[in-house]
Amino acid sequence: CGIVGYIGSRDAYPILVNGLKRLEYRGYDSAGIALRTNQTQVFKCKGKVQDLENHVKGSDVSGTLGIGHTRWATHGEPNDANAHPHSSMNNKFVIIHNGIIENYSTLKEKLEKRGYTFQSDTDTEVLANLIEYIYLKGGVSSEIAVRLALTKVIGAYGLVVICEDEPNQLIAARKGSPLVVGVGEGEYFLASDATPIIEYTQSVIYLNDNDVAIISRDELVLKTVQNGKLTPHIQQLDLDI
Ligand code: GLU
Repeated sequence: CGIVGYIGSRDAYPILVNGLKRLEYRGYDSAGIALRTNQTQVFKCKGKVQDLENHVKGSDVSGTLGIGHTRWATHGEPNDANAHPHSSMNNKFVIIHNGIIENYSTLKEKLEKRGYTFQSDTDTEVLANLIEYIYLKGGVSSEIAVRLALTKVIGAYGLVVICEDEPNQLIAARKGSPLVVGVGEGEYFLASDATPIIEYTQSVIYLNDNDVAIISRDELVLKTVQNGKLTPHIQQLDLDI
């Protein structure tokens, strides 16, 4: 339902929580965030963003890279385990996802045959494990693993992925579910619509269907799922009223 992401030099946590609150108008049943420090930490629960804030109280929420999600359940009831972010079985990937992976049950069966087990009933966790399976089995980069996994997916997605082995990178992709990148100075913002971004920057890139953005603090590389090179088109948000 709602997606936010941040990579830069500020604390990610307040940016993510404020962003999720800006997206509350869309409706949702659960909320969660992942923050990257030495490793990726996931906090998630059924309920409101306020419940998530209570849930993280007392925990270390430092980190200058992170992702956040408000879920509107399509596959699996609203509960803590089905809330996003979802981690892959060997904790190599953490993902947030809007949309529906239509062929998730076929993919899930194939992954189960290869030894994968699942913590949730979501279609999203299948994608997390598919990316990880390709990454570990294929010995390819996280970017290639994400792109290859997406060629096997039927359905709609707006997603953001953190790879445990790439502490300074977010990978975002879109097909059928909107995703906007805010471009700052040494920082990037991600969101499912521009409302969480406008208070930080008016320079935005709207991802198109089939786009994959590989984002570090000082660079955004835009490609197609099939590895075609794309030139990012930065637009200025028009806030005139
Ligand atoms: N299909 C996913 C789920 O049920 C994502 C739902 C959403 O867009 O929030 O968890």
